[in-house]
Amino acid sequence: MTPEEAWRALDQDLADYLARKGVAPSCRAGCFACCYGLVSLSRLEAKALLPHLTKAQKARLLEEGPRRLALLAQGKDQEDFPSRFFRSRTPCPLLEGGLCGVYAHRPLACRGLLTQGDPSLCAPEAKAPKGHFLPVPWRMARLRMEALWEEEQRRFGFLVLGELAGLLYLLLTGLPEDRPGVEAKLQALGVLGGRWGFQVV
Ligand code: SF4
Repeated sequence: MTPEEAWRALDQDLADYLARKGVAPSCRAGCFACCYGLVSLSRLEAKALLPHLTKAQKARLLEEGPRRLALLAQGKDQEDFPSRFFRSRTPCPLLEGGLCGVYAHRPLACRGLLTQGDPSLCAPEAKAPKGHFLPVPWRMARLRMEALWEEEQRRFGFLVLGELAGLLYLLLTGLPEDRPGVEAKLQALGVLGGRWGFQVV
């Protein structure tokens, strides 16, 4: 399965599920609180997104990527790192005027995060109640992610998982193709392993 096939398959899964259950998400264009969060994706998925980036998006990633990697190096073992980052309200560098600038090519993790609740509860300070984000769509996204992880392992012999801005930055600036090279680069940056760091599996 390619990432493009996984994106289409998840969109179809979600549309079928929402129609079957009569669930109407309250997510709307221009509502982007979830784009303040840390998003993880695999190298295979990031590589599929890469050719669709505009010059301006690449420029923002070249600026934001090193900053994210430095934050990750400091916080990757701290339990509250993702929630502190979320509260810092640092938008995804692919967010443009309140809309996803790569909507058709956005990661599975972004597609699977839906709510039918009050959108104001998605805000970083709101402390969304349990169940605010729909659990079944998220599990559907997770299953598609796992299929892509297996595909990446089949193709390359190993899998790289990491934070979106940091991973895209590394691909833009040159991430080695071989496993020892990837591990050495991530180790040198201080972002390999730990609770929230990059994973090489
Ligand atoms: S890729 Fe798009 S949907 Fe995902 S966090 Fe970035 S702007 Fe938001």
